[in-house]
Parts: sequence; structure tokens; C-alpha cells
Amino acid sequence: MFVHIGILFVLLQSSYCVERYDGHKVLEILHKAESDFIKILEMELKYKLDFWKLPKHVDDSMKVRVSPEHLEDFLHELEAINADVSTMIENVQDIMDEHQVQSEVPVLHRRASSYSSGWSLNVYYSYSSILNYLTAIAAATLPNNMTATLETLGTSYEGRVVRMIKLSKAGSAANKRKIFIDGGIHAREWVSPATVIYMIEMLAYNPNNNASINTLLNRYDVYLAPLINPDGYQYSGSSYRLWRKNRRNNPQGNCYGVDLNRNFPFQWDPIIGGSNSPCSDLFSGATPGSEPETANIVNYLMANGDLFDAYLTIHSYGQMWLYPWGYTSALPSDHSDLHNAALSGKNAIAAYQGMSYLVGSSTNELYAAAGGSDDFAKGGAGIKYSYTIELRDQGDYGFQLPATLIIPTAKEFFDGFVAFADTMYTHLYGSSGK
Ligand SMILES: [Zn+2]
Repeated sequence: MFVHIGILFVLLQSSYCVERYDGHKVLEILHKAESDFIKILEMELKYKLDFWKLPKHVDDSMKVRVSPEHLEDFLHELEAINADVSTMIENVQDIMDEHQVQSEVPVLHRRASSYSSGWSLNVYYSYSSILNYLTAIAAATLPNNMTATLETLGTSYEGRVVRMIKLSKAGSAANKRKIFIDGGIHAREWVSPATVIYMIEMLAYNPNNNASINTLLNRYDVYLAPLINPDGYQYSGSSYRLWRKNRRNNPQGNCYGVDLNRNFPFQWDPIIGGSNSPCSDLFSGATPGSEPETANIVNYLMANGDLFDAYLTIHSYGQMWLYPWGYTSALPSDHSDLHNAALSGKNAIAAYQGMSYLVGSSTNELYAAAGGSDDFAKGGAGIKYSYTIELRDQGDYGFQLPATLIIPTAKEFFDGFVAFADTMYTHLYGSSGK
């Protein structure tokens, strides 16, 4: 039975955007020494730099957005440290004009085909539409003995409710183990909430009656929270497309926002890949776990973490499947278990359209950053299989991934997730539970 929805859905992308990025370039910078990397990081506030990608290791490049006002001075400094510089994106505004859906046409139609609740999965929905979606799916009559339960994790800094859907198959084993998936911690990574919604649809309806999905649901209940940072997401949709943080009004510096993925209370340290400056995009917050959006996850996982085998937090971009630790280059003692399960995911992703995902630990493959949610889920809440996923792409569109690429991005990751869960379960419990 279809969910009846009689509301006009306002698309997140619209003509409301006020912040423009005319003449902003994204540069790819290869620094010569780690000390030069630190120098570039320290130029963030002076030149209003926006780090789109930080290096994975000392020999790796970084990608940085810079405005036309600061371009020349910034390039001079890069020349002084003899860095290699090339231009990835000539004009950020061109990508936005070309690929953002400008239409405010309401999404009312139901797809005639197969799955599901009648929602189009190839659009970026607003916060209120996502809430409507979660309410609708919880009210829907689902096939295959599936039930969807709406739960509330808490509220955001500006008071928006943060919701989660629990998907469970009746009639399968009692006291099943659980998997937690969240999205939208970083506001501008729009493909993350869209992918979590795709996952809800596929798990709830399993439109092709796929045996692997049935097996997964016989083994696990899955909890999915598509939008952890609704204030930032809303702001990214209405005013400032490239907003990353939440929307805390910081007392010092007249700057807004905390980087929620530097704020989690496990080995929290602004010096390691974060910042003490409220104006920085990487501001770690005044204290560990200071933000309500962080506390929503922390409180839930501290109370329930022992029921969960896996925690996956969905970000973009970069195509990576990363495991702890983020705060140190040391590896957890069970890292080979995490690595092997992630490899199953990576291989299933590649099987769809050949997309290559890198598997590794956050610090060894990315850069040290303390206060991430995956470190907390493993080290603080004791969830063994804890990961950060970076979805498509590898920088051609970056955060402005066209809406036409939502479904392929989400589908391949969902395939990877199903394969990952099978490897994880088999390793933990053997191949029973089918
Ligand atoms: Zn992110």
C-alpha cells in the first residue's frame, strides 16, 4: 500500500541562495613538507580558505576553495613554500549554476514502478520534507513483515527535531543485534542524507525481494538517522551552500558553528585536525560533546551501544571506507576484522559501476582528526565495526554532486553495505541466521 502524501514538498535547492561563489576556484595543492601543510592550514582564516579535501598522508595533495579577493596573496604564499598548484575547478559558481536543480516544482508524483512509498529518490529534499518522509514511512504498511518505527534522538541547537527510523523484520530471531547508520553530520554533504533515505527505502520495501537483503534483515535491526545536523543543512540550502558546521552562535569572534565531527567526546583535542577558533570551519567546540547534535548521538549510543555490532556515518566526498582511529595513527587491535569487512563492501561497490573506494584507517589514509563520531562509537560506546564512509565523487563536483548521481551513488553504497554486513555477521557468529 502506498503512503498517502498530500503535501507540497519544497525542494531544498531553490533560488533562495544568497551566497554566491563567482570566481571562486578550487585549487589542488601538493606541499613539499609536513611543516608546509601546517602553514597552509594556518592560513585558513587569513584568506578565508575552505578545505574541500585534506591530504591522506604527507605526500598527498589537498583541495582548497579560495575567493578571487584572496587568490593572489594566497598564491604568493604557496610560491614561497614551493608548493605545486593546479586548478581543479575554475569557477565554483559555474558548477552550481550548471548542476543544482533550480526547480521548485513540487514533488507530488508517485513512481508507478516497484519500490516504494512514492518518493522520488533522485532529488535533494529539504529538512521538513525529510521529516515528512520519515513520518510517512513509519505510517506505511510495509511488505515482507517489515515494520518501521519512528524514534527521536533529540533536538538541534536551533530546536529542530532529529529523528531516526528503526527497521525490523517481524518473525525473525528475537533480540537481534543492531546496526546504526547516520547521515548529514556535515551540512553541505547533501548526498549523505539522500543516500540514507535510499537505504531506508531499499530495506523497508526490498522491491526485488533480494535474498541478501532478506538475510540481513533476518539477522539485524537497522537504525537510520538521515539528518543529524538539520540547522546546518537548512542553512546550506537557503543561504550558504558550502556550510559545513552546525549553527551555534559562538560567543567569541562573531562566528557561527561547530564542526560536529570534531566535537565527539572521545580523545577530543582541537590541536589534532580541529581548531580552537570559532571562525574556523574545523572548530572543535568549546568542550568535548558541547553540541546538542553531538549529544543526541552520544546519549543514544552510550545507552544502547552494547546492542550494536556496527556504526556507519555517511559523509562525502572522496570514495573512502575508513575505520578508526582518527585521532592517532595507531590501529585498534581488531583492525584486521574491520578492514576485511570493509573490503567486502568495497568489492560490492566496484561490481556495480566500477567505482573505486579506498579502505583504511582514518589517520593512515586521511589525516589525523580527533573528535570524530566513528572514534567515539568504537572507543566510547564500544561498537566494534565503526566506520566513516566518504561517498562519491573524487572532486569533479565535490559537494555539488548533481542530483542525477544520487541513485547510482546510493545504490552502489547500499550494495556495499549489504555485503559488508554479511562478512561482519559471518565473522562474528558464523553463517547461521539465514
Ligand atoms: Zn563530512
